[in-house]
Amino acid sequence: MPLHPKPVALITGGSRGIGLGIAKCLARAGFDLAINGRRSAEDVAQALHELAGLGAQTLYLPADVAALAEHPHLLAAIKDRFGRLDSLVNNAGIAPEVRADILEATPESFDRLISINLKGPYFLTQAAAKWMIEQKQSQPQYFGTIVNVSSISAQVASVNRGDYCISKAGVAMASQLWATRLGEFGIGVYEIRPGIIRSDMTAAVKDKYDKLLAEGLTLENRWGEPEDVGQAVAAIATGNIRYATGAVIPIDGGLTVKRL
Ligand code: NAP
Repeated sequence: MPLHPKPVALITGGSRGIGLGIAKCLARAGFDLAINGRRSAEDVAQALHELAGLGAQTLYLPADVAALAEHPHLLAAIKDRFGRLDSLVNNAGIAPEVRADILEATPESFDRLISINLKGPYFLTQAAAKWMIEQKQSQPQYFGTIVNVSSISAQVASVNRGDYCISKAGVAMASQLWATRLGEFGIGVYEIRPGIIRSDMTAAVKDKYDKLLAEGLTLENRWGEPEDVGQAVAAIATGNIRYATGAVIPIDGGLTVKRL
């Protein structure tokens, strides 16, 4: 069977928010897309339509990233439809249902956040990496990348969502581990650390962030947009950030620049 002519990316949580911003940028960069999420195909039809308008063939794969047994089915569906996977973007993630002080926060919330934000993408990476290695071994020109969307919360302590911070700090180490393990195969692994990005996740705390931004929280004085993150992912996946595996790229408007 001839090789599918366009590179293919799997984006978890790719039908809204930051994931959709990433999907749009990858579609414009010439990728076909496998989009994962929890919602029904009907609920994401509009997003897929937009991506088709940007030239991408899309395959929607509803599944919970935390359900590890689903991972082989996700990859098998991509193999069936496209026969290749060039980029995995681990973007799906959740905030805690309740922002609770770490003196009060529950183990149930901790387990949920770790399982969706860290354990799911860690093992999806394991499964995808094995296929990427096979592709590299059968086609020397193969260029594979893995991008983990973490958060400034990997380094900035918020005591009302410790579970989220710990899950993202884990993603940061997972990126270093996978970059190390996959280096010999020429598969680049990158961590993108978004700051405050406009999406459903931040809609609930819009007023708080509007106020902090007005007070000078970031150096670039505006909300981040999903496509700010998308542009960075597209640069990585198209090979425009070379010789940089393991890199941590902040897309935070300068929020984490230390100042005196
Ligand atoms: P969002 O608007 O709430 O969207 C989350 C996406 O993740 C949705 O597409 C959702 O799927 C998907 N998702 C959630 N749980 C899932 C699961 N168990 N299995 C599969 N898909 C799942 O959030 P966002 O702001 O775009 O955030 C995207 C990523 O960026 C997250 O990892 C988040 O932690 C990170 N981040 C966000 C910000 C920010 O300011 N927004 C800052 C730093 C980092 P459905 O659409 O099907 O529900």
